[in-house]
Amino acid sequence: MDSFASLHQYLSKYGQTQRMPALFVGHGSPMNAIEQNEFSQTWASLHKALPQPTAILCISAHWETRGTYVTAMDDPRTIHDFYGFPTTLFDVQYPAPGSEQLVQSAIDAVNTEVVGRDQQWGLDHGCWSVLKHLYPKADIPVVQMSINQLQPPAWHYALASELAQLRNKGVLILGSGNMVHNLRIMNWRQPEQGYDWAIEANTGMKEMIMQSNFTSLIQYQQQGSAFLQAIPTPEHYIPLLYILGLKNEQDEISFFNDKTIYGSISMTSVIMA
Ligand code: ZN
Repeated sequence: MDSFASLHQYLSKYGQTQRMPALFVGHGSPMNAIEQNEFSQTWASLHKALPQPTAILCISAHWETRGTYVTAMDDPRTIHDFYGFPTTLFDVQYPAPGSEQLVQSAIDAVNTEVVGRDQQWGLDHGCWSVLKHLYPKADIPVVQMSINQLQPPAWHYALASELAQLRNKGVLILGSGNMVHNLRIMNWRQPEQGYDWAIEANTGMKEMIMQSNFTSLIQYQQQGSAFLQAIPTPEHYIPLLYILGLKNEQDEISFFNDKTIYGSISMTSVIMA
């Protein structure tokens, strides 16, 4: 999907059901929170195109725990979980309220394990850097759900399917990570381009998504060297599996911000509606 207009058209065609769309967003640099660029502008345009959610459940790459937890506080703090960025980024606050109702609904929906109530975390930049543009007023309740770092990809995909019922309650489920994410070998001289292997992995993932070949995406470690370079650690990739696990038979899938940057990062994002 190349333009805001086509994104809008897509959602007006498919977004009229009772079921909320589900989103995987490639979040990239924390600076996207305060920059007006091609990626953040698309996030802002989604605000007009999406139905108004009752609440947002966010699965961010930046919250890994032993066990699965949801942020259960009334007023989750804005966590500045990065270093070496300008003061203006540390000044950003995203004061969205929590939601006891969504916390309970998520706990009730998941049978895979007992989801714990967290009182320590808050909203990390994987969540607020995107929501700052998507819902700038911070007036929609937000709950984060952690990634259980002890569990394999198939387990996360299965857990996500149990969350699918929340879409019928007006909950927007947002997975925030990056499909291709290898920070160690970024190419700072080529911000507009990806390495060949990064483009290969990004293209391969998109093809598997469009073919609903989620088994291969879950078994990403068996998909060759491009995938292994794209996913050196799983935390930025797993939020994608959460969104794929929410897929309903009637859902259609589309992409936005489909671009590979700095060699080894893809901003490619998925919307399902
Ligand atoms: Zn990140």
